[in-house]
Amino acid sequence: MSVQDLTQGGGALHELGVTALAARLRAREVSAVEVAQHFLARAQSHAALGAFLAIDEATTLAQARAADQRLAAGTAGALEGVPLAHKDIFVTRDFPTTAGSKMLEGYRSPFDATVVNKLAQAGAVTLGKLNCDEFAMGSANENSAYHPARNPWDTSRVPGGSSGGSAVAVAAGLAPAVTGTDTGGSIRQPASFCGITGIKPTYGRASRYGMVAFASSLDQAGPMARSAQDCALLLSAMCGPDPDRDSTSLDVPAEDFSRGLDARLDGLRIGVPREFFGEGLASDVRTAIDAALKVYEGLGARIVEISLPHTELSIPVYYIIAPAEASSNLSRFDGVKFGHRASNYSDLVDMYRKTRAEGFGDEVKRRIMIGTYVLSHGYYDAYYLQAQRIRRMIADDFLQAFKDCDIIAGPVAPTVAWPLGGHHNDPLADYLADIFTLPASLAGLPGMSVPVGFGSGGMPVGLQLIGNYLQESRLLNAAHQLQRATDWHQRTPEGY
Ligand code: GLN
Repeated sequence: MSVQDLTQGGGALHELGVTALAARLRAREVSAVEVAQHFLARAQSHAALGAFLAIDEATTLAQARAADQRLAAGTAGALEGVPLAHKDIFVTRDFPTTAGSKMLEGYRSPFDATVVNKLAQAGAVTLGKLNCDEFAMGSANENSAYHPARNPWDTSRVPGGSSGGSAVAVAAGLAPAVTGTDTGGSIRQPASFCGITGIKPTYGRASRYGMVAFASSLDQAGPMARSAQDCALLLSAMCGPDPDRDSTSLDVPAEDFSRGLDARLDGLRIGVPREFFGEGLASDVRTAIDAALKVYEGLGARIVEISLPHTELSIPVYYIIAPAEASSNLSRFDGVKFGHRASNYSDLVDMYRKTRAEGFGDEVKRRIMIGTYVLSHGYYDAYYLQAQRIRRMIADDFLQAFKDCDIIAGPVAPTVAWPLGGHHNDPLADYLADIFTLPASLAGLPGMSVPVGFGSGGMPVGLQLIGNYLQESRLLNAAHQLQRATDWHQRTPEGY
């Protein structure tokens, strides 16, 4: 079947978004198999973007056929027949899982991550696994051990990271929505760089069971899609307590995040942190952010200046805590239990050493070394403990700020997407670009990115919205109202 055959009033299937696609499927105007075929064909014809690490047509089509049966039987879930793709950090039974690393090449999990499982229970069909930075460490998807991913708005530029493949897939119409994970910005920043919408919920909202661990006190799953409405639909299916499998999952019942989308914004107090608008912020990004804040004023919101005084310290704090946790989490990759094992070694220690030397990339090794160092005897108090103290101060800054405002708004990143290879051999340049996403991560707060226009080179700019604990619904409401008033989220890169 050709793309034209599947183009019915209201645009091609890949232009519809999750909400409209789910409605078409439920009305049986199109079958889940036809939809899956359409997206698989697009993934293939745009393979040069490097979005996917694994595709398995037979598996996807079998899932789609099962969805069609449920649609016919009237037992359809909220996402029945909607094809999604997962960041290759979520373990999956039906597809390989690599976490973007050679270490896990050929690895097949015996179970599905809770988030994958929940989306499947809602009826979603899996298109495949998406490219990402190795073990989710990075800001440009260039740390993937397999290949980089390209930004569809300008294929000479990075898509952001670590959920780079996820953002590319949505922006280029290779999937209507996807999953991502955010440890220090990995949903928000690639969403911003690729002109799509993404939300990281409150830490603990979504189960981490089956997410290959990077920094466990920060890792959190979330959806990425074209609109806040679509994100709300996915997030409702993804969240909920998982006490037997993730002891940090919150004992808060699953919520229907679509319910509050239509509330008006009259009187909403939007806090704008002074520290997010300093000299590091590129003027093109600032212009787009300022214009979005004006739209909010037009919608009845009130802009109030607030302060998050420890913003700058979030970089050193994160780059101590995240590597510390990573060094511990990644000790499980020893050549015995998972994936890669060196083929020539003299004894057990030599096997460990060679396996890890061969299996891990440079950035992962760098973080394991930093993490091991800051946790070692004699340095623990000076670095790790101190970082934990400042982390608390960063969280307290937000609690203070939320006395004067309902949500916080600012840039996601200081610049638009940079050229591929632009930060080559300069990991610090990547780290510094995380400055605006790290504070909410360290505090465990929900945050999202919403497209608000274009900056230099015609590259997308995202507005970051940060909410108080468990206030995802408020963020999605604010984003949805902005998307009703503007059409930035409906723009697509030429040729896709
Ligand atoms: N860029 C940050 C890092 O490299 C965040 C990554 C993430 O959120 N997974 O650690």
